[in-house]
Amino acid sequence: MGRYYQPEIECASQEQIRAWQDERLIKQVRHVYDNVKMYRERMDELGVTPDDIKGREDLHKLPFITKDDLREQYPYGLLAKPLSECVRIQSTSGTTGRRVVAFYTQHDIDLWDECCARAIVAAGGSNEDVVHVSYGYGLFTGGPGLNGGSHKVGSLTLPMSSGNTERQIQFMTDLGSTILCCTPSYAAYLAESIIERGLRDKIKLKAGIFGAEAWTEEMRHDIEEKLGIKAYDIYGLTEISGPGVSFECEAQTGMHINEDHFIAEVINPVTGEVLPDGEKGELVFTSITKEAFPLLRYRTRDICILSHEKCPCGRTHVKMTKPLGRSDDMLIVKGVNVFPSQIETVLLNKGYPANYQIIVTRANNSDHLEVQVEMTPEMFSDSVSVITEKEKELVSALKAMLGIYADVKLVAPKAIARSEGKAVRVIDKRNLYQNN
Ligand SMILES: [Zn+2]
Repeated sequence: MGRYYQPEIECASQEQIRAWQDERLIKQVRHVYDNVKMYRERMDELGVTPDDIKGREDLHKLPFITKDDLREQYPYGLLAKPLSECVRIQSTSGTTGRRVVAFYTQHDIDLWDECCARAIVAAGGSNEDVVHVSYGYGLFTGGPGLNGGSHKVGSLTLPMSSGNTERQIQFMTDLGSTILCCTPSYAAYLAESIIERGLRDKIKLKAGIFGAEAWTEEMRHDIEEKLGIKAYDIYGLTEISGPGVSFECEAQTGMHINEDHFIAEVINPVTGEVLPDGEKGELVFTSITKEAFPLLRYRTRDICILSHEKCPCGRTHVKMTKPLGRSDDMLIVKGVNVFPSQIETVLLNKGYPANYQIIVTRANNSDHLEVQVEMTPEMFSDSVSVITEKEKELVSALKAMLGIYADVKLVAPKAIARSEGKAVRVIDKRNLYQNN
């Protein structure tokens, strides 16, 4: 097998991709308008008919869909095919409210599996490989997605699911797993466990496909070094299909979005305006081939940047950065977009625990940003002048990251209140949205 799973698609010309998107979008809009009441009502409200959508350039005319819509329509409201044609459901974890259930026809499953197969081949996978899937199986899309992809590639698939680290490591050594698929945090844990047991020389892993949670470049390097592998990122969400919406290639500079199935847009999360390549904003997906549960302009809340720059791997599909934050917790301070995750990165890089609070105030029409950071017990015993020095150091590191000035106050360990184990990260005292 070559470097691509479907070279004619993955390396298609921009014109060809565009043609697929135009044709499929027109068909999809007609499909949801005819079969899903919510879409019909929303489009009618906007005075848009399926005839108005002649291709991708008309995408902006369509309404956005949010996670709240999905919850409200639970369970069957967004179903676009008769249940008799559906063969599977998958579901989100429901940690932040009502679960979302997504339906699949057999055709939907086949296309999803192909997307995951592209990711596995991009990570060097072939029918010679042993693909060790330690994502959870069941309602969660991680396990079933990579499992299906591995079958398509023809790899020997180990459906390990998550947990039971002893068994994971035993199968890995006994059966010679070559590609590990799991969350990055579990990969890091497995790496530690393998090293502790002195089994580093007994494993044959060459690559890992890690996703379903945020991870940093530092974590990537750490896992790569400990396991002696190349670690690839993969992105997806249950609402859209599951893992494999986009995946990393050997260039490791962003993830190629499978544009023959998903149209990606980046929007200003406040105004909804579509932003050009290179600008940071909220990622929005339209699934143009999904039959049972197609979503038009679904707001992911993930903040990222799109790029059409030529990739050395030869794939032509647009690339997205890893999510850089969430639009739900994005702050606009002095006209600049600020994400708690950026501040967290600075703190972690400087050796602080990630216990902090961001306080935004406004006086005389000017925003003020303050970051309170808990010290470690060791730092707490430092002299006042040392602490002041550390605060100054953080101020300049934050300035470099955010582009604006933030006041920094180092506070005692455990000084920041936590409710149910979770600290409140952002306190915005400006009351900007009270009238919205
Ligand atoms: Zn590439």
